[in-house]
Amino acid sequence: MYRKGMFVIMAAGILAATLVRAQQPVADPVPEIAGLPPAARAAAASIDPEKIRAHVRFLSLDLLEGRGPGTRGDALAAEYIATQFALAGLEPAGENGTYFQRVPLVAVHTIEDKTKFSLVSAGGAPINLAYGTEIVSKDQTGQPNAEIDAPIVFVGYGIRAPEYNWDDYAGVDLKGKIALVIVNEPPSDDVKFFKGNALTYYGRWTYKYEEAARHGAKAVFIIHTTPTAGYGWEVVRSSWSGEDPQLKLAPGQPALAFAGWFTRDAGEKLLAMSGHHVDELLQVANSRDFKPIPLGVHLRGNMPTKIRQIESRNVVAMVPGSDAKLKSEAVVFTAHWDHLGIGPAVNGDSIYNGAVDNATGCAILMELARAWATLPEKPRRSAIFVAVTAEEAGLRGSEYYADHPVLPLGKTALNLNFDAFPPFGRTKDVEVTGAERTTVWATVQEVARRMNIAIKPDAHPEQGLFYRSDHFALAHAGVPAFSIDLGTDYEGKPPGYGEKVFEEYNEKHYHQPSDEYHDDWDFGGMEEVAQFAIQIATTVANQETLPTWNAGDEFLPARERSGRQEAGGRRQ
Ligand SMILES: [Zn+2]
Repeated sequence: MYRKGMFVIMAAGILAATLVRAQQPVADPVPEIAGLPPAARAAAASIDPEKIRAHVRFLSLDLLEGRGPGTRGDALAAEYIATQFALAGLEPAGENGTYFQRVPLVAVHTIEDKTKFSLVSAGGAPINLAYGTEIVSKDQTGQPNAEIDAPIVFVGYGIRAPEYNWDDYAGVDLKGKIALVIVNEPPSDDVKFFKGNALTYYGRWTYKYEEAARHGAKAVFIIHTTPTAGYGWEVVRSSWSGEDPQLKLAPGQPALAFAGWFTRDAGEKLLAMSGHHVDELLQVANSRDFKPIPLGVHLRGNMPTKIRQIESRNVVAMVPGSDAKLKSEAVVFTAHWDHLGIGPAVNGDSIYNGAVDNATGCAILMELARAWATLPEKPRRSAIFVAVTAEEAGLRGSEYYADHPVLPLGKTALNLNFDAFPPFGRTKDVEVTGAERTTVWATVQEVARRMNIAIKPDAHPEQGLFYRSDHFALAHAGVPAFSIDLGTDYEGKPPGYGEKVFEEYNEKHYHQPSDEYHDDWDFGGMEEVAQFAIQIATTVANQETLPTWNAGDEFLPARERSGRQEAGGRRQ
């Protein structure tokens, strides 16, 4: 009803529409946009919230057992999504003419009660570290037993960032050694220096491990402090316990035998052995003149690991583009289908259904695929739809896709990702954090303006939420990529309602068995996101130039590398 009313207003003419817009918000959920194929508007209008509902309901049934990677629920979810792609008429884009891309995972599980660590310095008695309360660690090499006895070198923030003229690794040989680092990045209010208060990828703990591994380190330990990490030790402790499904290493890929954390207290013990303390090193690390500090202390460790091979699958489908040349380029849509499977019971329920997280995003993905496939006139570039696995294990399925894309990343125009949507109806705002860093930004703003949707800025740039969902795996590899999320300003709801339901979900249902489907859910917000996304994507799929990251962005070098590979490939 709401939408029809708006069509009438728009039909009354530009002048009338302008007048009305000046007086009250006018939303046209499916506006006419320059550069969109004529049928795209109809496709956006055909987005059906009841189809989204049907997908969410099915994917979050107890029958699918929480969709844990490598389980029966995994197979059922993947087959369901592939079947939907087939019914909608999409082409298979997986291996051997199927809709599936196999994702080999190696799940490692540190055997905690048999793991031993001690600190050793010349002349002193070894100091034992208690696993769990002082140190945690896991293996990234897929070996059943890791051993170490090697010197520890403090390398500050562990950052090498030529664009900021910053190198914590200057003049150090880390081969076979242990890097000790702090998490986060040098503090600054200058937006031109590590983006000021916003967290860049250099500040994330995953980066610390990757960079040190590139320098040949055998082990990396991060000294935890609550201010630098942004969360307490118990968060580290719990995410380092249990099984960790990792991507199987490619031949020659550097990896750490030990990737872990020290508590602040354990860090103090270690530093005391070399005449330093934590606060002093936190200070020293903030200087551009910082040089790595060999601590004269060895860490001795023995860590047995339980290993389980898991085979899971991404589900991949495609709608080829209509332009003979541009069809070799694509827009890529992603949403993770996996959730946490069966786990510890809460109130007698052990199935982690993951209805919001992320049956909702998968449902949007499938509905977008159906709408795109029904376009009578296809956009010039191709569209690829990827339901990825093992997001909850650390973006593993999307990382695998980035390593094994259907079309080369240098020819991937854009990635739009969908992860976890509140089922409470349409909002007057959306979040598209990261979009402002790409050349797609003008299109995003234009679609938002015409739909009369506000773009809500990231409320907590210092938390680096951008680095925590699947689009990041593609951004990291250079593809302009971001998630589209609903905002918090709900239509027809009182102020504060959005914040209230968000907090309630986070507290009571996020990653819990109670994240279940309910018949009274309102799928209007997901309809809105799908309409918003398809208009951005069809516009990008039709435009002349390939999008990229803005000048100076941390992902631009990767984009330029993949572009050069493409140019090199074409010359052959
Ligand atoms: Zn999740």
